[in-house]
Amino acid sequence: MRKQRTLKGPIKATGIGLHTGKKVEIQLNPADVNHGVVFYRADKGVYIEVKSENVVDTTLATTLGKNGIMIKTVEHLLSALYGLHIDNVLVTVWGDEVPIMDGSSAPWVYLLKTTGIIEQNAYKKEIIIKKPVRIKEDGKFAALLPSRKFEVHCSIHFDNTFIGKQKISIEINENTFMKEISKARTFGFTKDIEYLQAHDLALGGSLDNAIVVDEYGIVNEDPLRYENEFVRHKVLDVVGDLSIIGYDIKARYLAYKSGHDLNKKLISKLFEDKEAYEIVGNPNTEKIVGSFVWASLEKSGK
Ligand SMILES: [Zn+2]
Repeated sequence: MRKQRTLKGPIKATGIGLHTGKKVEIQLNPADVNHGVVFYRADKGVYIEVKSENVVDTTLATTLGKNGIMIKTVEHLLSALYGLHIDNVLVTVWGDEVPIMDGSSAPWVYLLKTTGIIEQNAYKKEIIIKKPVRIKEDGKFAALLPSRKFEVHCSIHFDNTFIGKQKISIEINENTFMKEISKARTFGFTKDIEYLQAHDLALGGSLDNAIVVDEYGIVNEDPLRYENEFVRHKVLDVVGDLSIIGYDIKARYLAYKSGHDLNKKLISKLFEDKEAYEIVGNPNTEKIVGSFVWASLEKSGK
């Protein structure tokens, strides 16, 4: 079990909202132990805690909200915070969307690492999966299974011949997150862009913040950052979406064609079944509780 962490100092950034197309200012501030990640809509005076009850929309991006006040496209920032184990941050936003930056988590990772991260005087609680939780719908699938580590196994399958089928299995830790996942950009198809923009979505989308794909290949001039960048971005989204659980995750996440909606449903299903998980928190007892859970899981062959 590790200590909680926060930032050494504040970070200010400005960017474009992917869906609104509006310029937005954002500031990340250090916060006390057990504060968690909390968004503050400075223009409305409303705090929105990062927790599953506050996920109000999962169409194309993950949106948090409280009392009708929303903050859109939080997943790439949340992914960077989880990937670098930064637990306590107040994110002040002067607008309703987190800037999309380059469509990946890399700019956040750069800003967080250059500002610096400090350990705090409290342990971070862990969530252990005690029995599998699965969700399946419309040919899509996601599951959380017991594991001592946080592992993500993702497959995607697109009709588009350039993307086709891609899969990846990766253990998520600070190092693998930064090197293998954080740079993977979001992506979209030229055929969908007209439709999205007609519905006031992806208004800020451009070749600077997304990989755009048509039937022949990628439209962007810059090459892919990883050969299978598409499935790696799915992992980036999964890390951001699952970070909403609020604990260090000890689980094997398995998914086929997952998305923000399926991830939200998976978290709800997990929390509905008190026997499916255990929160390990007290540093004085965590070793005893943890090994007891593991001994019983191994005995039952799960
Ligand atoms: Zn994404």
